[in-house]
Amino acid sequence: MLQQTTVPAVIPYYERWLKVFPDIGSLSRASLRKVLREWQGLGYYQRARNLHKAAKTIVREYGGRIPDDECTLGSLPGFGPYTTAAVLSLVYGKPQPVIDANVRRVLMRVLGLRGTAEARVDKTLRAFLETVFSKDSPGDFNQAMMELGALVCRSRNPQCLACPVREFCRAAREGTQEIIPRPRTLGLEKIEAVVAVIEKDGRILIQKRPSRGLLADLWEFPGGKVERGESLVQALRREVREELGAEVEDVRRLTTVHHAYTRFQVTLRAYACKLRDEDFKTGPRRRWVTLNSIRRYPLPSGSVKIVDFLAARR
Ligand code: SF4
Repeated sequence: MLQQTTVPAVIPYYERWLKVFPDIGSLSRASLRKVLREWQGLGYYQRARNLHKAAKTIVREYGGRIPDDECTLGSLPGFGPYTTAAVLSLVYGKPQPVIDANVRRVLMRVLGLRGTAEARVDKTLRAFLETVFSKDSPGDFNQAMMELGALVCRSRNPQCLACPVREFCRAAREGTQEIIPRPRTLGLEKIEAVVAVIEKDGRILIQKRPSRGLLADLWEFPGGKVERGESLVQALRREVREELGAEVEDVRRLTTVHHAYTRFQVTLRAYACKLRDEDFKTGPRRRWVTLNSIRRYPLPSGSVKIVDFLAARR
């Protein structure tokens, strides 16, 4: 949960998650839909899917106990080097140094390593860590390094005067702490999209996304990207035709919402409409739902904003 975000932002999600899934057994027994619904808002849904798969594997193959050897743990879904080292050191007290974004930034500054903070510097950082790592308290050492990066050696405005490692820090000595590491320029892609809030007898049509790719297995309103040269309504009609094989009528503008995920900045324009075909058939991946029951489905953030809009105007 903590990857790509901060502790204060995660706390409410974490607390709610533990109420719903207090142990590995309850997580392993839950449906994927329930897991994705509880993860809703945290983004990067592949992590929730991996956590769910890992819980199932741990219960099925290891009697519900998280493996404590690097090889087995690292073979579980979602367990890369960072997560494996974090669990082994924090849970089992094994001497495994952790390098996350915070630790990488601290060490690059301490060593005065210029350039962007990328995994390619980890070999150098790991060699240095071996010389200072506490084998007696590996979990405390790793947590202290992560906290140092999160609270003191922050990416902007590092608090060097209050820093406990200042006397060993090359960047502080040379005054380069503000330019190490060099910020990466993220290529943000802007997307214009339209969605159809199709109503029938007080219900709204939602559909399930494919099980692979971005936002896999989440539910959403039909719609998609506006192609070059298309008007918004033309895009809406084309998307509904392509996705549902149906035509819409009574198209009315509802609202516009903005949201961002991974490297995309999306402007989502929602339209209320009706299907022309009275006999339109749903299936396992399409459902008519009420505004109340829609909240039981895992939805991308943009769709949640549209549901909030619909609920507020009732
Ligand atoms: S002295 Fe400054 S730059 Fe160096 S580790 Fe501490 S906070 Fe970071």
